[in-house]
Amino acid sequence: MGDHIVTLNAGSSSIKFALFALDGGPWPRQVAIGQVEGIGVAPEFEAKVATGDKVKRRFEGAAAPKTHDAALEIIIGWLAETFPGAKIVAVGHRVVHGGPLYSAPILLEPAVLKVLETFGPLAPLHQPHNLAGIAAAGKAFPGIPQVGCFDTAFHRTQPFVQDTFGLPPQYYEEGVRRYGFHGLSYEYIAGRLAERDPAAVRRCVVLHLGNGASMCALRDGQSVASTMGFSPLDGLAMGTRCGQIDPGVLLYMMQQKGMTAAEISDLLYKKSGLKGMSGVSSDMRDLEASDAPAAKQAIDYFVARIRRELGALMAVTGGVDALVFTGGIGSNSKTIRARTLEGMEWAGIVLDRAANEARAEVISAPGTPVTVYVMQTDEEAMIARHTVRVAKLVTPALADA
Ligand code: AMP
Repeated sequence: MGDHIVTLNAGSSSIKFALFALDGGPWPRQVAIGQVEGIGVAPEFEAKVATGDKVKRRFEGAAAPKTHDAALEIIIGWLAETFPGAKIVAVGHRVVHGGPLYSAPILLEPAVLKVLETFGPLAPLHQPHNLAGIAAAGKAFPGIPQVGCFDTAFHRTQPFVQDTFGLPPQYYEEGVRRYGFHGLSYEYIAGRLAERDPAAVRRCVVLHLGNGASMCALRDGQSVASTMGFSPLDGLAMGTRCGQIDPGVLLYMMQQKGMTAAEISDLLYKKSGLKGMSGVSSDMRDLEASDAPAAKQAIDYFVARIRRELGALMAVTGGVDALVFTGGIGSNSKTIRARTLEGMEWAGIVLDRAANEARAEVISAPGTPVTVYVMQTDEEAMIARHTVRVAKLVTPALADA
């Protein structure tokens, strides 16, 4: 079956994976995608093969994976059984934090892993799990190159005024900066937009609206500002994360309510956003289907923040030629798209209602100044492309590059 690469995205209780074939096409070709969820809790394996076949397995009792190592074993076992003869020649990892140092994907050699550990305090809820995934893959695929692709890397092009806080410089120096996240998604969309509408990458805003949600302003295809900051908490309200918050609120929680750092962290990351506000669900589909006034309020707030950030990012780019909606909500919710763009004619943004209803790729009215796209993002494809390049695996596209 030839050479393949595996991409891994290890979270606190899940590992997402994909398998790509290097079979001579311009890019690695995805042949399977899936995940183990609920590691240590209620583990479930789910995978989809490019042919459309789906597999679901539940693990109970002694068979339930309790660690990332065990979950990866299940993934590797399934890959070997489903794609016998597929030779794994590299593994690409999504790593949430590249710190101030890494602005591009890198080969994960021992010295690099040591540096990545030092970024743990910058992303305590994510980085240790990413590193656990890398360690597990190192054991499972000994001697095979592993490549780290950072969610922050794409934003390292932002100017100082966009990645600093108004704090004494010592904090900036020690890494307290606005890093921005969802970088692999933005990079993928920037690439697609450059192919689809080369002029539009000059000034554009991408809205990645999913369970995690952020927005990014691009100039000439590069990130110049984003709504997420030091942590993936800032900016938009999300499934369970609060989004922008006045730091005075945190002081109030600590000083007046006596809340601990762990309690505040739990509130801001897991009990806020759409879920916390609505008391119904973190899932936009549930909120759209709900009659509860609090669900409506949560959606109203979600949309209001997107519109406010859109105005701010358009001021950074000096107007826009295009907007791109992506992520689970951005790609699928015609209601959220319509409400986001309502009354934006002053900015040259005019929705074509029929196109939006029909889920067309372009949903702006023909001949209006700003072209609005709906595009599916593909972070795994981005990881696979970087992995091929960094691990120096020769494909025709790379030979030409
Ligand atoms: P993601 O994190 O990008 O996978 O996006 C997950 C979010 O997308 C969840 O809030 C889902 O409710 C939302 N989503 C997926 N499909 C739809 C849909 N058809 N309408 C509204 N929201 C959707």
